[in-house]
Amino acid sequence: MQELHDAPLAPLTTFRLGGPARRLVTATTDDEVVAAVREADETGTPLLIIGGGSNLVIGDKGFDGTALRIATEGFALDGTRLELAAGEVWTDAVARSVEAGLAGIECLAGIPGSAGATPIQNVGAYGQEVSATITEVVAYDRRAGETVTLTNAECAFSYRHSRFKEHPDRYVVLRVRFALEDAGGLSAPVKYPETARVLGVEAGDRVALTTARETVLKLRAGKGMVLDPADHDTWSAGSFFTNPILAREQYEDFLGRVHDRLGPEVAPPAFPAGEDGERIKTSAAWLIDKAGFTKGYGSGPARISTKHTLALTNRGEATTEDLLALAREVVAGVRDAFGVTLVNEPVTVGVEL
Ligand SMILES: Cc1cc2nc3c(=O)[nH]c(=O)nc-3n(C[C@H](O)[C@H](O)[C@H](O)COP(=O)(O)OP(=O)(O)OC[C@H]3O[C@@H](n4cnc5c(N)ncnc54)[C@H](O)[C@@H]3O)c2cc1C
Repeated sequence: MQELHDAPLAPLTTFRLGGPARRLVTATTDDEVVAAVREADETGTPLLIIGGGSNLVIGDKGFDGTALRIATEGFALDGTRLELAAGEVWTDAVARSVEAGLAGIECLAGIPGSAGATPIQNVGAYGQEVSATITEVVAYDRRAGETVTLTNAECAFSYRHSRFKEHPDRYVVLRVRFALEDAGGLSAPVKYPETARVLGVEAGDRVALTTARETVLKLRAGKGMVLDPADHDTWSAGSFFTNPILAREQYEDFLGRVHDRLGPEVAPPAFPAGEDGERIKTSAAWLIDKAGFTKGYGSGPARISTKHTLALTNRGEATTEDLLALAREVVAGVRDAFGVTLVNEPVTVGVEL
């Protein structure tokens, strides 16, 4: 187990932001992870788990406690069953499962970070979410002081949410198990309209697995959603805000404001959400754009990506406070324009929006 003191955390995040940790521990086995967590809990030391740092906004003052970087390795295939150690690089695991001819996570290619973080916010993109293929999550339960295996149902997955996100200080994910599909080299049915259009197929069709993965990677790169150290549009946490889900009444109020502001002919993006269809999901990117925060917005060191309105980015010299000031400006602008309050997707450490 590697241990450093007063260690900078910014280089461990895709924003390249945040002050130092009092102590930074890197664990390469499950036993080391559990030992480090137990030690922190027994001594009452605040603990921050870090995977790939691609969904973290760490305050400029840093973290006064132990930051535990999970660097475990393990990619085990048994037929269509896949088990990943938490520290596995997610996008590499997707590439290897596609190479093995297995479908189910090919549209999640290019998402940065670790396998162990994927269940936390039920990672999703281009019509797939990990909740559709995860069978079990092995985690250390800090409350019970033991390692537990949670079934898919027990993970309580929903849109960008799970039991793990609900109880942020309770579980440390050690392993994630998936049931993939052998569809003879074909992908899972293509669900996302943009992907289907680019592939020239109908929604529900299957395409070659490698084609599906490569198409998604290309679409993502065009939006600055594949990490590239040379491109500041990717010094981000991907989408900074989740898509708002509105109750029907709220939606009617929102629609009224859209019509007042943009004209009665304008129809905002709207998708049924939830079991009863009584809730409606709209697009955070659309709201931000229509509230006047277009691509590249901002004049300081933190700006909206030039490729995607939903990504807030560090142009190189930003501080976390710069980023939060921009985020607050966007939240206030969207609220004033449309009466909808955006919620941040990345996890904040020592700061709030
Ligand atoms: C360019 C870019 C594009 C992105 N695109 C997408 C996308 O399309 N879809 C999407 O859903 N997300 C996307 N993201 C967000 C991010 O990549 C995912 O949320 C990813 O799963 C985070 O993984 P990580 O290992 O980097 O987590 P970190 O940022 O290290 O941690 C995130 C949170 O999870 C916790 N955590 C991490 N590992 C563990 C563990 N083993 N056990 C318990 N808690 C843990 C941390 O404490 C923290 O609270 C994108 C980010 C970037 C930078």
